[in-house]
Amino acid sequence: MIIHLKESVSELKANELALSQQAVIFKQNQQFILVTSSKVKELDKAVEPFTDEFFVQTSDIQLASRDYQEDLREITLENGVKIGGSQEKTMMIAGPCSIESWDQIKQSAELLKKLNISTLRAGCYKPRTSPYTFQGLGFEGLKMLAKIREEYGFNIITEVKDSSHVNEVIEYADIVQIGAKAMYDQSILRKCGESNKPVLLKRGFGTKLQEFVQAAEFILSGGNDQVMLCERGIRTFETHTRFTLDLCGVSFLKEYTNLPVVVDPSHAMGYRYGIADLTRASLAMAVEGLLIETHPTPEIAKSDAAQQLNFEEFENMYQTLQPIANAIGKTLI
Ligand code: PEP
Ligand code: MN
Repeated sequence: MIIHLKESVSELKANELALSQQAVIFKQNQQFILVTSSKVKELDKAVEPFTDEFFVQTSDIQLASRDYQEDLREITLENGVKIGGSQEKTMMIAGPCSIESWDQIKQSAELLKKLNISTLRAGCYKPRTSPYTFQGLGFEGLKMLAKIREEYGFNIITEVKDSSHVNEVIEYADIVQIGAKAMYDQSILRKCGESNKPVLLKRGFGTKLQEFVQAAEFILSGGNDQVMLCERGIRTFETHTRFTLDLCGVSFLKEYTNLPVVVDPSHAMGYRYGIADLTRASLAMAVEGLLIETHPTPEIAKSDAAQQLNFEEFENMYQTLQPIANAIGKTLI
């Protein structure tokens, strides 16, 4: 159950009520909000006099549910750009899997600038499957991304792999990406919940939709409503592609949650050849964002080499998106 307390309720009283109801508490627009388990179906008599409104919920997809808030949530980026809400924009998020050098990121920035793409993504802290492969440039990479933002004005998105660098990423990035493997890390989720920085939460590759959205609830119930969900492929019995892009899941998220949805065909496919098709299919579903990896020389990329588009491939793919965006009434940014 979600309980909106009256604005007149003091912090002390609100905390007391939260404790008595075993509820999570956060403040939004001058109002304290309590969230109890969805198993609670009746408002406690002790809370009633302090309650403005309450919402009985069917599952622990609560703050993210359309039953609670029908309108799509709006994300406001540091430079004032908005997505979600009634914006009808699809944000292109592009760049290399990892930032590898100044030269590499500069070339990537030039490509985005040429195509008028708003959002540059590159990983600094890479959650690799092996400890013996390139782990990312870490803080040095973050500093380079900050320099790129200063120079080009892009929104910068980069991922947090564990809680040891979550504060730095929140400070430096415009959007914090929580990756498929970090999605269950509650210290990251809670830290992001305490901040007001937009978050792109990726779905784990073995994660049910219910668990995925519940991970987002950790951020929302911390008081940060700037959350986007990213489908990036799940593991199925199929081995010819790296993962399987769950577009049925995308429909579920659009229908039942109020969070903007981003699709990442690059990590789902795992190979260059299918990415343009999957990008077009995902855009046709009118999602709020698309995340595509591109690298000046994918053959020698230090991570995800097989799936990154070279610039020519990226540009060719990008040119085919405009008619689809027009058909569904979306502006690509
Ligand atoms: C990435 O975005 O480069 C990445 C590692 O993705 P994921 O967390 O989806 O595997
Ligand atoms: Mn990658």
